[in-house]
Amino acid sequence: MKPRVVRIYYRHEVPASDTWDLGLLFSTEEEYRAALEQVRTCYKRYREFEGRIMESAQSLVDYLKLDESIDLALEKLTHYASLKKAEANGDPANTGRWSALQNLGTKIAEARAFAVPEIQRLPDVRFNELIRSPAIAAWEIYLGRIRRYRAHTLRAGEERLLALAGASLSGYKEIFSQLMNVDMKFGTLTTNHGEKIALTLGLADSLLANPDRATRRRAFQKLYRQVRNHQSTLAATLAASVRADVLYARSRRYGSALEAALFSDNVPLAVYDSLIRNVRSMLPVVHRYYALRRQTFGELYYYDTLIPIAPQICVHTQFSEAIELVCSALAPLGNEYVETLRRGFTARWVDRYETPGKRTGSFSSGSYRNPPFILMNYRVDSISSVFSLAHEAGHSMHTWFSQNTQPFRYYKPPVLLTEIAAMVNEELLTDYWLAKTAEPKVQAFLIDRSLERMRSVLTRQTMFAEFEKIIHAAEESGDGLTLEFFRETYARLLTDYLGPDITIDPELELECLRIPHFYSAFYVYRYAIGFAAAITLSRKIQTGGSKSQRKYLALLRAGRTKFSVEALVEVGVDLCSSRPVEYTMDIFAQRLVQLEVLMRQLAPNVGGRRSRVLRTPSRRR
Ligand SMILES: [Zn+2]
Repeated sequence: MKPRVVRIYYRHEVPASDTWDLGLLFSTEEEYRAALEQVRTCYKRYREFEGRIMESAQSLVDYLKLDESIDLALEKLTHYASLKKAEANGDPANTGRWSALQNLGTKIAEARAFAVPEIQRLPDVRFNELIRSPAIAAWEIYLGRIRRYRAHTLRAGEERLLALAGASLSGYKEIFSQLMNVDMKFGTLTTNHGEKIALTLGLADSLLANPDRATRRRAFQKLYRQVRNHQSTLAATLAASVRADVLYARSRRYGSALEAALFSDNVPLAVYDSLIRNVRSMLPVVHRYYALRRQTFGELYYYDTLIPIAPQICVHTQFSEAIELVCSALAPLGNEYVETLRRGFTARWVDRYETPGKRTGSFSSGSYRNPPFILMNYRVDSISSVFSLAHEAGHSMHTWFSQNTQPFRYYKPPVLLTEIAAMVNEELLTDYWLAKTAEPKVQAFLIDRSLERMRSVLTRQTMFAEFEKIIHAAEESGDGLTLEFFRETYARLLTDYLGPDITIDPELELECLRIPHFYSAFYVYRYAIGFAAAITLSRKIQTGGSKSQRKYLALLRAGRTKFSVEALVEVGVDLCSSRPVEYTMDIFAQRLVQLEVLMRQLAPNVGGRRSRVLRTPSRRR
């Protein structure tokens, strides 16, 4: 079948109703410039406070109010400038506006660099007196968040030394990026259509999901030949990254690099450990999913895990239909949620379609008490686009609820909670769509998509989290971080997590050297844990009636007044317990059975053997 050529329209050809209305931020360029000038003047007032912020409750409040007014204005300017840049990156007016703002941001950061140390230096006794003042009460959580770092802040001279060493200590990031993106040459690849492609890293990665196996395999081999040729350099770079993490953690008096990484959102170590333990205990279910893949493809290599099992379908969903689908699917979140979102769609929150020079992908972006805009590259022939819309709508509505409840200083939620609000919506859409369609091919596609997300987000990211934990612990206990150690450790994890149905190419253990996240350690656990929390929450919302709905909306309204783990306990999700992962894997197992039945219906001869019977893994309560 010949692919349909879709014409991309220039921005001036697109009806205004299909674009976002940035006039709601600044109606003219003059208005933007006037606001910018005002910040340029105002921030000079910081110097009035140097050395005297903590003199009295009044001086502290005056400083906090000045600081907040500058952040508020800067946030709106940044919101506007970043969206203009996203809409047409090639336009010099957009890049110029953006870089001028970046420069201003740096100057502001320098001008107020004295403030945090002053707030931290004040002895507890004196600080406790200060916060008893009614004027300070509204800032108590805010100040508490700054002062909790006191135990991990060093003397001025030591801080200066760490800051000076920063660029050298983080040099591994640039080395990794240059090596992967510039020095590695992947050569050319001939597809099954005889087309010769000059490979880049991004292209090689995307070809791992090509429908033709020979093409996938060639892309895999070309990619890993280069990684193997540079394996010693990569291993040394990864080791440097781990050593820098350990050095920072030790100098700042954290128990370990992991503890240092979890500190900012106050996540207990037990949450990290129980994630790994619980996902591991459920791996037999995931292995059965790979068994279904092997039946479908005959044999199964790593590069066969990224393409759909279910037959491809072609479903066209116009944007207006996507709005209806998303709004209907989100009905369990209540009228206020759905009607606000619907109004947002008509009030031009969304920049809908691809235009030349526009940023790819999709995102939601807000500033305080302004519309939480959404950038899409919506495609009517892609079901994934509808899910992206539901996901970004989750971010936008989270912003909307928190900014209409909290003061500016508390409205931005922790990263973990923002992703949960988006993933809850995707799950509600999956459930709604599955209940609505009687078409087996669409059902199979939706279930396959959902299983693939569970696998790639929950189990794969947990495997990554475990690898990060092991290699940091090795450095902390004085074991050598060698290429062999990285390879052996990763090979063991691959065997455990992928199970018996996948043939693991020897090159695959080199994957541990090429995952960018490993060079910014201890981030990915959030994906896995957030996913389990989102699945659990979406079920609670659908089955728990108005009480669950109210609690969920309270979570969205809470902004950053609470740390993620405690905020989730209030909606009945305890990340220290095994329940969220068990619950998610139960749903995984149920959907897997549905997919097995559907696949027998849709492709009865595939693989020529019946699926194995699932043994429910034993549970710890
Ligand atoms: Zn997101």
